[in-house]
Amino acid sequence: MTNTYTQLDPPSRVLLGPGPSDVPPRILTALASPTVGHLDPTYLQIMDETRQLLRDTFKTKNELTLAVSGTGSAGMEACFANLVEPGDHVITCVNGVFGTRMTDVAQRYGAITHPLEIDWGQTYDPRQIADTLKQNPQTKILAIVHAETSTGAHQPLEEISRIVHDAGALLLVDAVTSLGGLDLRVDDWQIDAVYSGTQKCLSCPPGLAPVSFSPAALAVMDARTTKVQSWYLDMSMLRNYWGEQRVYHHTAPVNMTYALREALLLIHEETLDARFARHHLNHTALRAGLEAIDLQYIPQNSLTTLNAVHTPANIDEADIRKQLLNQFNIEIGAGLGPFKGKAWRIGLMGASSTQSNVTLLLAALEKLLDRSGATHAAADVYNAA
Ligand SMILES: *Cc1c(COP(=O)(O)O)cnc(C)c1O
Repeated sequence: MTNTYTQLDPPSRVLLGPGPSDVPPRILTALASPTVGHLDPTYLQIMDETRQLLRDTFKTKNELTLAVSGTGSAGMEACFANLVEPGDHVITCVNGVFGTRMTDVAQRYGAITHPLEIDWGQTYDPRQIADTLKQNPQTKILAIVHAETSTGAHQPLEEISRIVHDAGALLLVDAVTSLGGLDLRVDDWQIDAVYSGTQKCLSCPPGLAPVSFSPAALAVMDARTTKVQSWYLDMSMLRNYWGEQRVYHHTAPVNMTYALREALLLIHEETLDARFARHHLNHTALRAGLEAIDLQYIPQNSLTTLNAVHTPANIDEADIRKQLLNQFNIEIGAGLGPFKGKAWRIGLMGASSTQSNVTLLLAALEKLLDRSGATHAAADVYNAA
């Protein structure tokens, strides 16, 4: 080992994978602003504004809405850690990587889990949920992924929410790949606990996990007879840190809060509806382009933020991804689980969801796969819009 190190010089990639997504310059500038103390009056104001912007983005009035220190998975842990007491029964909906992870996390906090498994890529029929709740009447929480990034499945939640509440359980939702990209209505859909991450449709660097808890979830936490197993993620203390009392718990990642606030301000300026429409248009154009060169979507793919397509037969899919990166500076994702080596996952999340990115990727794929017609098909969609 020598003691010489390279200069920090990461390339400016076009991030079209399953996250992180492209970070707008305004957010990077916010990140590089002077660090202040985490109890500095300026920072307290920034925390308050961030909470309000988060509520607007989640479409909720929930008082307990804040950003957990850590990535999306920390948000997942925060939800289970605070709502589960050892021996509680939890139904986890497992149709991809993240439903699988929720089961693991719930078990680690002492839950008795009842995984409801369906084929990867499928979405749930509310009747399946109703049947499972009937078979497990003692269920305290039903946990489900809104946007399954491993397959592209987009799960409708409204009817499921009604069924879960009729059964007397709480609804816990993974909104990591939907918040800021897809319609998500925490209050209208009566979601009791929801978590997300900063690096998907919010287009912020990874590092914070927005969470929100309904009054019903709060009541369940307040009625706990055991301590939350994680000190770091204990909402009874985090509430007092993010609330008016400002009781020191841990030092919030000050500059990441600047970045998240800026990302949420960008959404506020664009408006959620315009943002959802943008995601829809770019997805439609990409889809037309990919299908024009015979790349088939995984049948149930219904997300506008994540496009999962089968890789063509007789090609080295990893080599194509490598060439996309090396020749075109574009990152896309590989398949996971049953789709390993068999699918590409193309994210069009947040700032990455643009016409120029769609056109660039399609042109690159035309060249690497020696096919034509993709950019043309996408242009037709844009011209018609
Ligand atoms: C990315 C992702 C996660 C995990 O988030 P990390 O930021 O990687 O910890 C959880 N759920 C879904 C649906 C995701 O896409």
